[in-house]
Amino acid sequence: MNAKDVAGWFQRYADVIEEKKAWLTELDSAVGDGDHGANMARGWKEVRNQLKTFEGGLPEVFLLVSRTLISKVGGASGPLYGTAFLRMSMFLKGKEEIGHDDWPALLKAASEGIGQRGKVNGGEKTMYDVWAVVSETAEKRAGEPVRTSHLLEWAREKAEAIRDLRALKGRAAYLGDRSVGHRDPGAESTVLLFETLHQTVSSRGGNGRER
Ligand SMILES: [Mg+2]
Repeated sequence: MNAKDVAGWFQRYADVIEEKKAWLTELDSAVGDGDHGANMARGWKEVRNQLKTFEGGLPEVFLLVSRTLISKVGGASGPLYGTAFLRMSMFLKGKEEIGHDDWPALLKAASEGIGQRGKVNGGEKTMYDVWAVVSETAEKRAGEPVRTSHLLEWAREKAEAIRDLRALKGRAAYLGDRSVGHRDPGAESTVLLFETLHQTVSSRGGNGRER
């Protein structure tokens, strides 16, 4: 994926977040303060506006998204997603394309950023669980190509699996046992990110081959 492909991914994600705004709000209303849909939609709408005139390279696309989310998205999700995209931008410095081989380290950079910024570990039922499993599973494949269909599959499985956990971080933690069975809003918006990544890569013209 080059800078243009990534910009296409983020535009697609901005559209999906707008479509799913009510659903994300509903999820967050059940376990938190109900602002995840509105917060994400505000931030990604601004990302879409800025991308219209954007002409930079690969690391700069990630940096633009990072800065926009940090300044526009309230709650915990702005700084967390903002840090993930900032770390990805740093990893991609000097690169013009993301290849199969780059995904493990790129996702590790993002996942570690979220872990540090949110002071979260695995198993606390947060978006970090999804980022961590995608990063770790990609890393374990050692040498085998990582496809975006894999990333999506691992993200979906993890988001489903953590529904049965009790939340230990964020507002959802106040619910204690009553958080069991609910979806985590940040984990679900992360799944959508991988879903739109896969859609972007699959729908690309030319030979349609994943790079
Ligand atoms: Mg919230």
